[in-house]
Amino acid sequence: MLDAAFFRQWLTSAAALVDREAERLTELDSPIGDADHGSNLQRGFAAVAATLEKDAPTTPGAVLTLAGRQLISTVGGASGPLYGTLLRRTGKALGDAAEVSEQEFADALRTGVDAVGALGGAVPGDKTMLDALVPAVDALSESFGAAREAANEGALATTPLQARKGRASYLGERSIGHQDPGATSSALLFDALVQTAEA
Ligand code: ADP
Ligand code: MG
Ligand code: MG
Repeated sequence: MLDAAFFRQWLTSAAALVDREAERLTELDSPIGDADHGSNLQRGFAAVAATLEKDAPTTPGAVLTLAGRQLISTVGGASGPLYGTLLRRTGKALGDAAEVSEQEFADALRTGVDAVGALGGAVPGDKTMLDALVPAVDALSESFGAAREAANEGALATTPLQARKGRASYLGERSIGHQDPGATSSALLFDALVQTAEA
């Protein structure tokens, strides 16, 4: 079973990975965006880690909803409301249970990923974070490791795609040949999940 401490550690690990990879995420956002994805998420996840340390919510649902609200209020770019919605809606789906099973978490994350699709109007294949999130959540019932692998493969598979949502879509065919920054950062969330489960 997964408790609040597990989810706090997950997001703290995600903040550390985002911090480590910020430069690469911003570099990916240069040719097909406005070169701020790394700094956007670095600022957002640092605020999430600080808030979780200060408030230490005691249920998985409360950890995720607080983190989601923090991302929405800290990150101005498209990714803030999208990741914020992912965490907030996942948290809401978990309710106020003190512990949740891996399957309950997988089901709740599916609700969160669906909410990202509804908010941004994107579907898999549009060259967005959903290209990593959707295959990852599909694999999550199997294991955290399978979800990580699916997210990484999904992120790599965005390279040949033409963007149909977000800033990169303004480039039309010129968006082809570049890996999507948001799909890349989504894969980091699943790296952090595996790290947390193995700790
Ligand atoms: P901005 O584009 O506002 O500068 P970021 O650079 O932080 O925001 O985030 C860009 C990422 O957000 C993209 O790489 C993409 O994965 C994701 N994204 C943008 N628009 C959408 C959307 N409508 N649906 C899902 N993801 C999106
Ligand atoms: Mg950007
Ligand atoms: Mg921006």
